Amino acid sequence: MRPFVLAATNWKAVKDQKFELAVLPWGATEAHNYHLPFATDNIMVERIAEEAARMAWGKGAKVVVLPTIPFGVNTGQMDIKININLNPSTQFSILDDIIDVLNRHGIFKFLILNGHGGNDYKQIIRELGLKYPRMFICSCNWYQSFDNSSFFEKAGGHADEMETSMMQFLVPDLVLPLNEAGKGEGKKFRIKALNEKWAWAERRWTQVTNDTGIGDPSAATPEKGEKCFREVTDKISNLMTELSAADINNMYE
Ligand SMILES: [Zn+2]
Repeated sequence: MRPFVLAATNWKAVKDQKFELAVLPWGATEAHNYHLPFATDNIMVERIAEEAARMAWGKGAKVVVLPTIPFGVNTGQMDIKININLNPSTQFSILDDIIDVLNRHGIFKFLILNGHGGNDYKQIIRELGLKYPRMFICSCNWYQSFDNSSFFEKAGGHADEMETSMMQFLVPDLVLPLNEAGKGEGKKFRIKALNEKWAWAERRWTQVTNDTGIGDPSAATPEKGEKCFREVTDKISNLMTELSAADINNMYE
C-alpha cells in the first residue's frame, strides 16, 4: 500500500492519518515533437511526485500526493491539434476549490509540483494566500531543480534530450524510435531583450518550431534519464521532508 498517494489509498488508511503536506502534480496535454506522447508532462511530474513522496514518507514526512491535473496553460498553441488549454483563471478556480478542502481538514501546507513551462502559479499563490491566511502555499518547477548540462549534451525545453531521456527511462513503450523524431529546432525572437529573457512575451509555438519540439532529442538515452530522475526525486523528497517538518509560523532565520 502507498498511503502517500491519495488515488492509491483508502478511507481506512486516510481517516485517522495526520497529513502535514499535500502535493498537487500539475502537467499539460500537448504535442511533444513526433516521438513523445501528449501526456509526457503528466507522466513525468506524477512519477517524480510519487517517488519523491515515497522517499519522504520513509523519512517520516506526512505527505499526500493528490491526483495529477492533466491540462495546463497552452494559450500559445491553440493551432496545434488537440493541445488542450486551461486558462490561468481556470487554474485559479481549481486551486481555490482544492485549497478550500485542505484548509477545512487542517492540511495547511500545500505544494504545487509543476511539470509544464506554460503554468505559472506565483500570482495565483499571492491571491490565494490572502484568501486562506492559515495556509502555506508554494510551488516548484521540477525541471529547474537540477543543472541540465550535468546530465545532457543539449538543452532545449520541450521534447528535448532531457524529456526524451526521462520518458525512455520511465515509459519506454510510449516513446517512438529516435529516427522518427523531428530535429526540435527552435527559432529565436528577432528582438534581443526577449532572447536574453529580461523582457518576456509568449511564443507563438507553430512559428517557433516545425515539429512542436524545441531541443534536439537525438542524444537521449534511458540511462541519462534515470540519473536525472534520481537527482530530481532526491531533491524534491528533501523539499517535501522539510516542508512537512516546518513550522509555518516560524519560517525565517
Ligand atoms: Zn514537456
